[in-house]
Amino acid sequence: MSQQRILVWYRNDLRVHDHEPLFRAYQTQGQVIPFYCFDVRQFGKTEFGFPKTGKFRAKFLVESVANLQKNLEAKGSNLIIRCGKPEKIIPDLANALHITDVFFHSEVTAEETGVEQALSSNLNSLGVNATSFWGGTLHLLEDLPITIPNLPDVFTQYRKRVEKYSHIRPSFPTPDCLPSLPQEIAIGEIPSLETLKVPTPYPDERGAMIFRGGETPGIERLSEYIWEEDCLKTYKQTRNGMLGANYSSKFSPWLAKGCLSPRYIYEQVQTYEQARVKNDSTYWLIFELMWRDYFRFVCLKYGNAVFYQTGLQGVNIPWKQDWEQFQRWQEGKTGYPLVDANMREIATTGFMSNRGRQNVASFLTKNLGIDWRMGAEWFESLLIDYDVCSNWGNWNYTAGVGNDAREFRYFNIPKQSKTYDPKGNYLRHWLPELRNIPGDLIHEPWKLSQDKQREYGVILGRDYPQPMVDFMKSIKANQSLMKGF
Ligand SMILES: Cc1cc2nc3c(=O)[nH]c(=O)nc-3n(C[C@H](O)[C@H](O)[C@H](O)COP(=O)(O)OP(=O)(O)OC[C@H]3O[C@@H](n4cnc5c(N)ncnc54)[C@H](O)[C@@H]3O)c2cc1C
Repeated sequence: MSQQRILVWYRNDLRVHDHEPLFRAYQTQGQVIPFYCFDVRQFGKTEFGFPKTGKFRAKFLVESVANLQKNLEAKGSNLIIRCGKPEKIIPDLANALHITDVFFHSEVTAEETGVEQALSSNLNSLGVNATSFWGGTLHLLEDLPITIPNLPDVFTQYRKRVEKYSHIRPSFPTPDCLPSLPQEIAIGEIPSLETLKVPTPYPDERGAMIFRGGETPGIERLSEYIWEEDCLKTYKQTRNGMLGANYSSKFSPWLAKGCLSPRYIYEQVQTYEQARVKNDSTYWLIFELMWRDYFRFVCLKYGNAVFYQTGLQGVNIPWKQDWEQFQRWQEGKTGYPLVDANMREIATTGFMSNRGRQNVASFLTKNLGIDWRMGAEWFESLLIDYDVCSNWGNWNYTAGVGNDAREFRYFNIPKQSKTYDPKGNYLRHWLPELRNIPGDLIHEPWKLSQDKQREYGVILGRDYPQPMVDFMKSIKANQSLMKGF
C-alpha cells in the first residue's frame, strides 16, 4: 500500500462507475476515503425566496447518497457523511486523518467553484494537495477542438465542430474492490428530510414515473428504457410527448446528480446500435446530451452572466416582477390549459417534459413579460433534475437573453397544445375540471359558448379561469416592449 491517503469528495457525481477521482485514487494503491457533505447552504432560500432544494430533489439526493454508500460498501469501502460546509469540514478531516490528497470533480458555476477555491486554499495551508478532474460531460473540456473563449454562440456550430474534431473517451473502469476504511473514522449519518427541514413528498399516481435516487435505480432506468422497453429506436419521434414514462428517457435526474455518467449512456447507445438498430433516434439521444454539454461550456465561458437579469447578452429588458400574475403561473391558473397542466405537473411531481418547459417559460416571459429569473428559480426549487447549467442556460435561451438571441421568438401555446397533445389526453390528465370537454375543444376552453360550458360542466371564471391575458395582444405588447434591447 502506498503512503497516500486520498479523500474522494463526492459532489454531483454520486456513482462508482466512470468516476475518475475514485479510479485515480484507487490506482495509487493508497488509502481511499470516499466522502459526501450535505452542504447546508443548498437548503437555504433562493434570491426570490423559494426553497433552494425543494422536497422532490431533496428526497432524490438523500436516496442517491444512500445508494452510493451501499455501492461503496459492496466494494469493501464506505461513504463518510457530514452536514455543513465542505471547505471547513474536509480540512478538519484531513487534519484528523492525515489525508495527503483530496480528489474531486470540478464544477463550473459560482457557488460550486467558490467552495472549490476556498477548499483548495484551506487544504493548501495544511500542505494537503487538492486535485480536480473534469467529468460531467460527454466530451471532456480538454478534448474540445475549441478554446472556451472561442466557444460558438450557436449550438449547431459547436456541435458540428465537436462531432468532426473531437471524440468521446471510454468510461473509467469501476474498481473491483476498495480498501476498507480506517477504524477510527466515524461514518456519520445520512440526514433525514426532517433534519434538512424539507417536507416529505408523497408520490402522486399521475406522475410520469417514480424517480428513485441513486446509481442503481439510474442504471435500472437506462436498462428499462433502452433494452427492456426498446424505446431508443423511436426516441426522435416520441421525445416531444408529455404523458407517461417512455416518450423520453427520463435520465435527467440521474444525470443531474451524477448517478449516471453521460459516457456510460453513450456506450450503451453504441452497444444498442450494434445489437439492434442504428438510426436517427439513437443519434438524437446523443445529440440531446450534447446540448447538455454545451450549456455547461456556455456557463464556463460566460461565468455569472447566466444568472443576471440581463442574461448572457447583457440586455436591459424592463421585466416585471408582478407577484400576483406570477402566482397564477406557479399554481397553474393562467387559463391556458397547456401552461396550467404543465405547471401543476411540476408542482405535484418535480418533473416536466422538455416541451412543457419551453412552453411555460415562453408564456411567463413572452406573454406575461415577467422576470425570467423568477421562473428559473421556481424551476430550481422544484425540479428533481435541476442542473444549474441546463436550467439557467435554457431559461436564458427561452427568455431571449441567451448568447444566441436574435429576433423575438415565442411559442404559440394553443397551437403547441394541439400539435403535441392532439387528443388532449395530457390536459385531461392534469386538469380534471376540463375532463368532460370533448376532442380538441379542450385546447381553447375560452371559445366555448355558455351553453357548451354548462353541457361540459365547466363554467369559465368559476371552475376554470378565463385566460389571464389575450394571447396575441400580450405577445405584441411584449414584443414592442422588448424591441430595441
Ligand atoms: C426552461 C427549461 C429549463 C430546463 N431545466 C433543466 C434542468 O434543470 N435540468 C435538466 O437536466 N434539463 C433541463 N432542461 C432541459 C430538458 O427539458 C430536460 O433535460 C429534459 O426534459 C429531461 O427529460 P429527459 O431526461 O426525459 O430528456 P430526454 O429527451 O430523454 O433527453 C436526454 C437527456 O439529454 C439532455 N437534454 C435534453 N434536452 C436538453 C436541453 N434542452 N438542455 C440540456 N440538456 C438537455 C438531458 O440530460 C436529458 O436527460 C430545461 C429545459 C427548459 C426549456
